[in-house]
Amino acid sequence: MAAPGVMDKLVSLCKRRGFVFQSSEIYGGLGSVWDYGPLGTELKRNIKDRWWHAMVRARDDIEGLDAAILMHPKVWEASGHVAGFTDPLVDCKTCKARFRADQLSDGQCPQKPSKHPGEHSTCQLTEPRLFNLMFKTFMGPVEESASVVYLRPETAQGIYVNYLNVLQSSRQKIPFGIAQIGKAFRNEITPGNFIFRTREFEQMEMQFFVKPGDDAEWFERWRVLRMAWHQELGLNADKLRWHQHAEKELAHYARAAYDIEYEFPFGWQEIEGVHNRGSYDLTNHQTASGKKLEYFDQAANARYVPEIVETSAGADRVALTVLVDAYREEEVEGETRTVLGLNPAIAPIKAAVLPLVNKDAMPEMATALFNDLRSRFACFYDDGGAIGRRYRRMDEVGTPFCLTVDGQSAEDQKVTVRHRDTMGQERVGITSVAEYLRERLGS
Ligand code: ATP
Repeated sequence: MAAPGVMDKLVSLCKRRGFVFQSSEIYGGLGSVWDYGPLGTELKRNIKDRWWHAMVRARDDIEGLDAAILMHPKVWEASGHVAGFTDPLVDCKTCKARFRADQLSDGQCPQKPSKHPGEHSTCQLTEPRLFNLMFKTFMGPVEESASVVYLRPETAQGIYVNYLNVLQSSRQKIPFGIAQIGKAFRNEITPGNFIFRTREFEQMEMQFFVKPGDDAEWFERWRVLRMAWHQELGLNADKLRWHQHAEKELAHYARAAYDIEYEFPFGWQEIEGVHNRGSYDLTNHQTASGKKLEYFDQAANARYVPEIVETSAGADRVALTVLVDAYREEEVEGETRTVLGLNPAIAPIKAAVLPLVNKDAMPEMATALFNDLRSRFACFYDDGGAIGRRYRRMDEVGTPFCLTVDGQSAEDQKVTVRHRDTMGQERVGITSVAEYLRERLGS
């Protein structure tokens, strides 16, 4: 049997250590829907907080929003999603499986031996049909077409329809942006690769509203800023690149689009899109709603519908990216050490407090230290098993620091700080540990 690849190992680590579980696992799971466990929740929250800080808190020209998932169905007509948010789909009459017509060479026919759809002599693929990716549901007690609502397939529309509300209430002026983090749903035909492509996911989107004609300049600025954000997350720069959408790839709304791609074990794939949407969205909503969505620019003494530059990243995709990028195995004294070399700023646990043994006042000292630190940092207390094993458990979930209280601690009032990446150790005074961590975690 072939050795398991990085993705298999990561999926298993994520389950074993409480990062990500399959949804409804006891019922056999639900296709491409995943739940985040205790450590995964912390990791994803840290990623989202970091994004929110960079996009909203640290800037004067971006405001936050938390729009509802359910929106008036006319939103999705005006946005072009009802007519155009489709993938071409083919069915196989033999095996009843469905495939994306434009991704047959990546698809897998369920028949054995393993081949691409259409390659077995018994395959009978239909002509491609367009399949809308939006999930439909009903609002109110009657299940009829008049009460159909959609689970939003992107968070952006909630921003467009609220742009004047935010502008007026925050007293912003163009150029300015609105940022939002929230759930989106797509009935993907060929989901997969763990949390890379799922049917329920979270987006971190920002729409930047600019004066017509300023779009190209802002588009370039946002490209630079967004790539820098991913690099500052600690991702390996060699595994990041730009992909420019060719004319035929461009979405119905886009004037120009670039994807930030990461090289996953399953190939180069998009993790974030930066799109120049022009005035497509606001113009369409203005026409469909009959409400003016113009901005009065006092400085220019002009009225116009702003143009929009969008940055759209998936929180789950970024979480997968940091996990893949951080995962490594090393040989240490004849044993394999698994390490998640996460940027300490997003690590789910920042420091573990470990009494060397459960006697001689060590647990008391360790508990006091833990109680002192936990209000400021995500900490973990572990007194179970040999110290080497405890270090390894922390390495595997990316904890940058272990703080060990040993026999000498009562005498010199110091603990051993053990570093995840180098495994180096140093003694630090107990009263200085919080400051020591703060300096290294930037918090
Ligand atoms: P793809 O081509 O991979 O389906 P897309 O071009 O449709 O992505 P966008 O509509 O630009 O994606 O969405 C912006 C971001 O939202 C993507 O870069 C990705 O990070 C995230 N995203 C989109 N679809 C999914 C999904 N099914 N599962 C997880 N994340 C997603």
